Amino acid sequence: MAPRDGRDAALARPGSPAGLSESVTSQEPRPESARAGASAVPAAPWIDSHAHLADAAFADDRAAVLERARAAGGQGIVCIGASVADAALARAVAAAHPGFVWWTAGVHPHDAAGFDAIGDAEAITQAMQDGAVAVGECGLDYHYDHSPRALQRRAFAAQLAIAAQQRRPVVVHTREAEDDTIAMLREAGSAGIRGVLHCFTGSPALAEAGLDAGWYLSIAGIATFRKWERDDVLRSVPADRLLVESDSPYLAPVPYRGKRNEPAWCAYTLRRLAEVRGSDPQTLGAQLVANARQLFVLS
Ligand SMILES: [Zn+2]
Ligand SMILES: [Zn+2]
Repeated sequence: MAPRDGRDAALARPGSPAGLSESVTSQEPRPESARAGASAVPAAPWIDSHAHLADAAFADDRAAVLERARAAGGQGIVCIGASVADAALARAVAAAHPGFVWWTAGVHPHDAAGFDAIGDAEAITQAMQDGAVAVGECGLDYHYDHSPRALQRRAFAAQLAIAAQQRRPVVVHTREAEDDTIAMLREAGSAGIRGVLHCFTGSPALAEAGLDAGWYLSIAGIATFRKWERDDVLRSVPADRLLVESDSPYLAPVPYRGKRNEPAWCAYTLRRLAEVRGSDPQTLGAQLVANARQLFVLS
């Protein structure tokens, strides 16, 4: 396994290269369920398209985390397998919560140097036959370069091939690798592969390439940070191509920034999305739920 805290969480670190240096707000965290109860408005619905629920960060209170997700409007959670071993854990979490948690299997770009073109490919293929809803997360991360770039491309290409063969969508992590990502997702799109660019922080050009390929963009809590600069992308994505995610335990949205993230807080990111787009959270949330069900073929 790659160092988990070096994956997506760095975007939340003060002084990170992304320049997202907003400090944690002093506002006292309140459970979303309490807010919903106080206002007597039902929580807007959402599906968390990307959570690392099998992470050890949830070992002690996973059931409570899932309860809070439901209370906050959660209609489901896609639990990401970022390695073959992680996918086995994700599968177990999903099995304990049928119809609410689904799982994926892939090898993260950080670990691409160790990607076994035979063994890992077989394990991921088997996972699809065992009920995983997507291949991934996989992709390219040239920010950390934890694996040589050529090996990242090789592991990503191999997983795209599995997605094509198994007719499953692909969950893609990409950071500072836009040219190669655009080239590979264009090719995947023309091969009929569908997928999601998770935790989207890319340029309008990357967004456009993804949309052209028929893919989805998933927005994480980063969109609530003061220094987020991609409202243009949030506005321009067609409503039927948008997803929301926690990427928990990383990247907690404001007002929980810096804390362990959990799926329930997708409600804050959804609210932010609705604000930027001038939409009603209930309507947008229902659309995002439908999108996740369509992409991942959830049942
Ligand atoms: Zn990621
Ligand atoms: Zn992830």
